[in-house]
Amino acid sequence: MKSYSRGGAAAQRKTLRKTFAPLRRCVRSFFLIAVVLTCLTNASSQTKPSRAHASLSPEAKALLEDAIGVVCTQAKLDPKSSVAIDEMQARPSLPLHSPDARAGAERAQRLLPLAKELVINSLNQLSTDYGFANSRNFNLRLRQAIARVNSVKRVRPDMESRDNASVYLSRPHVITFGTIFLAGLRSDEGMISVLAHELMHIADGDNDSLRVLVAAVGNKASDLTGLDIHGQRSEEVTCDLIGAMAARAYIVTSPGYESVARRLARSIQHNCVELDEGDEDHLSPRNTIRALLALNPGLVRELINDRF
Ligand SMILES: [Zn+2]
Repeated sequence: MKSYSRGGAAAQRKTLRKTFAPLRRCVRSFFLIAVVLTCLTNASSQTKPSRAHASLSPEAKALLEDAIGVVCTQAKLDPKSSVAIDEMQARPSLPLHSPDARAGAERAQRLLPLAKELVINSLNQLSTDYGFANSRNFNLRLRQAIARVNSVKRVRPDMESRDNASVYLSRPHVITFGTIFLAGLRSDEGMISVLAHELMHIADGDNDSLRVLVAAVGNKASDLTGLDIHGQRSEEVTCDLIGAMAARAYIVTSPGYESVARRLARSIQHNCVELDEGDEDHLSPRNTIRALLALNPGLVRELINDRF
């Protein structure tokens, strides 16, 4: 039984989901301010001492923070930047037929086939990078995961989902996408990143069949950042990593007149929040960026070197 959400009102929805929609898996569920959650967040591990091995050097940490600066500066300068998730949370509901929601839904549906292809390539790459390519058992699971990704057919816009995108594992051919979220992702790069995140949940499936890969990514992210990234947090970070990899691959194969840094930033900048709170299942948004960039130093270099 799985249900993942973040925060205040969302926490109430979580109860309902557990009761009535037990196989729903949330990709992004964003939050209202709630004292109880603040307490939970503070209690649950935003910082933990780094392990001695594999942690980032001071120079790498400084570069990483510079790269976050690029991402979140672009959020203010780029007309196609993704809206921060705390800002989306504060917006009023958006009707299905509003122009921005419709444009977002059309973008999502148009990009879905490409996002599937990019996710499959990224999953193969990640499996090789983490040393699972020669495991027969893992490769069987990977083939099944890829089949699940290939079977996704449709994005369903949903006003009630607001700023969330979700997958009900009882309906694995559909990604449900809140209209506020659809409208807030104003670029192909941002949309591919979130579609890829959802598709990675579908790849993992209701039996967590890619759990060894997910755990390896979480362990590495924990080592590099000193943050507690285990359990569901590992899956969320892995989904975000696949999202960033898919968006980068898209950028490489579709050159444009905009800077690479600006386009890369779109894949993660919905995390450039003012209100930076996490929960048991999710790192805080800004720590999510930190973990992604720690896992992907190539992204740091490209953000820094191509910022102008
Ligand atoms: Zn997710």
